[in-house]
Amino acid sequence: MARVAAMVSAASGAAPPLIALTGVRKRYGGGSSGQPETEVLHGIDLEIRAGEFVAIVGQSGSGKSTLMNLLGGLDRPSAGHYRFEGRDVASLSPDALARLRREAFGFVFQGYHLIASETARENVELPALYAGLPPPARAQRAQALLARLGLADRAGHRPHQLSGGQQQRVAIARALMNGGRVLLADEPTGALDSASGAEVMALLHQLADEGHTIVLITHDRGVAEQARRVVEIRDGRIVADGPGPGAASSTSAGAAAAGGTQAAAAPTSPGSPGPARPWHADLGEAARAAWRGMGRNRLRTGLTLLGIVIGVASVIVMLAVGEGARQRVVQQMGTLGTTIMYLGGSAPAEGGPPGRITDEDLSAIAGLPDVAHVMPVIGDPIPVRRGRLERQVYVFAAEWFMPRVHQWPLAQGRFYTEAEDRALTPLVVLGHRAKAHFFPGDPDPRGRQLLIGDSPFEVIGTLAERGAESGAQSYDDMVFIPYRAGRARVYRVQTQPDYTVVAAASPQQVAPAEAAIRRLLLARHGRADFEISNAAARLQAEAQTRRSMTMMLGLIAAVSLVVGGIGVMNVMLMTVRERLREIGIRMAVGARQRDVQRQFLTEAVLLTLAGGVAGVLAGGITGAVLVASGVPVVFSVRAMAGAFACALATGLVFGWAPARSASRLDPVVALAGD
Ligand code: ADP
Ligand code: MG
Repeated sequence: MARVAAMVSAASGAAPPLIALTGVRKRYGGGSSGQPETEVLHGIDLEIRAGEFVAIVGQSGSGKSTLMNLLGGLDRPSAGHYRFEGRDVASLSPDALARLRREAFGFVFQGYHLIASETARENVELPALYAGLPPPARAQRAQALLARLGLADRAGHRPHQLSGGQQQRVAIARALMNGGRVLLADEPTGALDSASGAEVMALLHQLADEGHTIVLITHDRGVAEQARRVVEIRDGRIVADGPGPGAASSTSAGAAAAGGTQAAAAPTSPGSPGPARPWHADLGEAARAAWRGMGRNRLRTGLTLLGIVIGVASVIVMLAVGEGARQRVVQQMGTLGTTIMYLGGSAPAEGGPPGRITDEDLSAIAGLPDVAHVMPVIGDPIPVRRGRLERQVYVFAAEWFMPRVHQWPLAQGRFYTEAEDRALTPLVVLGHRAKAHFFPGDPDPRGRQLLIGDSPFEVIGTLAERGAESGAQSYDDMVFIPYRAGRARVYRVQTQPDYTVVAAASPQQVAPAEAAIRRLLLARHGRADFEISNAAARLQAEAQTRRSMTMMLGLIAAVSLVVGGIGVMNVMLMTVRERLREIGIRMAVGARQRDVQRQFLTEAVLLTLAGGVAGVLAGGITGAVLVASGVPVVFSVRAMAGAFACALATGLVFGWAPARSASRLDPVVALAGD
């Protein structure tokens, strides 16, 4: 409403003019910049009313572009006042200036300043994107404007596929996209041949007739004199201001063709505050622009991503290996039992021979309250024969309650009894795979003979398959004989057990039992010439090793992600430098700082997410190789989510600074960049 009122009052000539400059000066350099201060504009006073068609003419270097940048809110005066519709522009924040540019101005530059990677239609849509117009309305209006400027069939072309005149018409369509109340054209015909230049001038006349305010900047007096008012500038001062020769004649020129733009100018209302757009608005747009940006330098992008790929792959493998190890420990705890301890002689730390665990020691241990079973074991790989079949097999000599101690059922037949052990009866029970080795195709080998060492033993049963392995040998490959019979008939010279399995009465009693055994043996031997370990502790030690490996992978992941992140930061900084002009264009058409920041942040995140996808693939392949080589690996959704979270976080953290530096650029500096 305020705007309508302002226009009406301006049209009636009552009060504030659309644009009012008083004593405007512009200085460059000086201060902390280290360059000598030069004043380019020396106190400009200028008023422009709505609907005027003004040419600002002057020689090159006279300060015309500087003045235009001030008028369009791309830059601020060093001194003096600029009021737009009575509002002081100097006091506006960068984002408020962006809104002013978006809603009131349309720029047309000598060099067109179209974004090279976007199509004509996308270039035209840009100002409406930042104004928050929904995509279908945006596309429709851009298409209508292009059609009006005779470019309907060029909408999908990119700037390099268009002639200079066509590019300039696209730029004019862009200037009109948000209404283009004030068109600021800086040497719009400067780069064009005379025919195209004339076309552009005719277009400006038409737009002036439709009510657009037009400020045309040129060094060419002939061009300037087509305007209805000519302001002459020399060395930063206005030296003449009056009606141009074309003031009377050109008024009717475009009247017939009028009707398109001003009607179409309706969708925006520059007086009202812009809607607060949520952060995810036009994320797709930012992603699309980001995708094109990344495509520009694929090799560089790919190399930069290596760090992220390795980091993410390490995260995936690390989590999968960790989970695999955890599950295996749980499984082994189940099969090995958690009540078992191993006891053997060992050289004491202070020196001397390893101790002997005597039968009397074992009886004393068996008498301890927390101990359920004491089972001395002799076991060695020795030749076992059946007919001509001979194999080196681990022969496990243990007492009759071995299946109970190891919680290991029989698959077939029976185990030997205590009485048979005492009677030195030569009986043998086979492990699952040992049966397959010696009796292939024989479903029931009971009653058959095996030659162990040089004594015959009779097969009386087969144990169930055990599966889980601890250490190098598999229990399934072994054969089991009575302890006493084994000592007498096979291991004759050996009177000592290789080790003794002690079972606590319950898992909770393992620790007290171990402590009690230590005390007992210390008292009996007088020195620590023995060693006790338990299965749970061994598994825990194994799990600890795996955990260290997991930690190492974690470290690799962290370092890779940081290195990758620094690479991303580097690429983003380069991207910002390479695309200064694009950033300037986006700012000129009204992008807020946060729009620019969001775009480059989206690019950084897309970059790292692409690295994340590649990393997940690499992690999967590494995992498959590990599985093939026997390492337990369990992939999980958690691992995937973790990896993507890492990639996302890396992009956000390392993309933030470059995106911020892009958003803080001065629009004029950015536009001048290449
Ligand atoms: P015109 O558009 O009339 O050719 P400009 O406004 O581009 O002139 O420049 C006017 C003067 O200001 C020139 O002498 C130019 O060297 C100087 N100038 C323009 N921009 C800068 C800047 N960023 N730093 C220092 N001097 C500048
Ligand atoms: Mg210039």
